[in-house]
Amino acid sequence: MRHTPDASIVFQCNICDRENQADLHQLTRDDPSCSKCGSSVRLRSIVQILTTELFGCSLRISEIPRSPELVGIGMSCWEGYADRLARHMHYRNTFYHQEPRLDITRIDPAMKGSLDFVIATDVFEHVGPPVSTAFENTRKLLKPDGVFIFSVPFTHPGGERQPTLEHFPELHDYEIEEVDGRFRLKNTTHAGAVQYFDDLVFHGGPGSTLEMRLFSEWSIVNEMENAGLHDITIYSGSDLRHGIYWPHPWSTPMAARVHPRQT
Ligand SMILES: [Zn+2]
Repeated sequence: MRHTPDASIVFQCNICDRENQADLHQLTRDDPSCSKCGSSVRLRSIVQILTTELFGCSLRISEIPRSPELVGIGMSCWEGYADRLARHMHYRNTFYHQEPRLDITRIDPAMKGSLDFVIATDVFEHVGPPVSTAFENTRKLLKPDGVFIFSVPFTHPGGERQPTLEHFPELHDYEIEEVDGRFRLKNTTHAGAVQYFDDLVFHGGPGSTLEMRLFSEWSIVNEMENAGLHDITIYSGSDLRHGIYWPHPWSTPMAARVHPRQT
């Protein structure tokens, strides 16, 4: 089915159930497009992928069967869906800076193999290097056949062997300073060299969450496979019923699984 960008659709938000009317061009990855809860295409797509992977079809949160046996976590998920998900599953949102805490670069060994699903949407571009540790630890947290729901901004969809662009590959002991109204990063490398970086990209406003890297599609798939995650699905198809529309192939969300017999 083809749609022109100014085509108008009616969709039901899979987070808050509100029926909305929107032009397709309004359905962008990160702009609010539900008139009630303010969810974006990316946030609704996380619910689409979670329900598709766990229940075999794209459900609204209110349609999720009560499933306390399904155990999962989010990493700094949007509270608009986090609170609702927690009513249907054994789901807990976690945070880097507040309780309940999770630092994906240093996981609690007691949590290994305990989760049916992990959600990390637009988090891994902010995790300290090497990011491979975050992918490996995510796989370790999951049970056999557990699923990882993932998104980051990425470049080069469909491209081959385009590496991640690491902004601070030698990051070790660092702080962000404000100098004359501008932010700069001061890093002392493992070898003791001092580096300064001025051209910082923050998500969520200046001084907020620092972008550590820019992934490519290939580099994400490569990281997942190296970490022991398989069955990687890139969810670039539309789910217009729920207002999910991806006219461009970059930065779309994805899912990956741990093998059923893998430990
Ligand atoms: Zn909504």
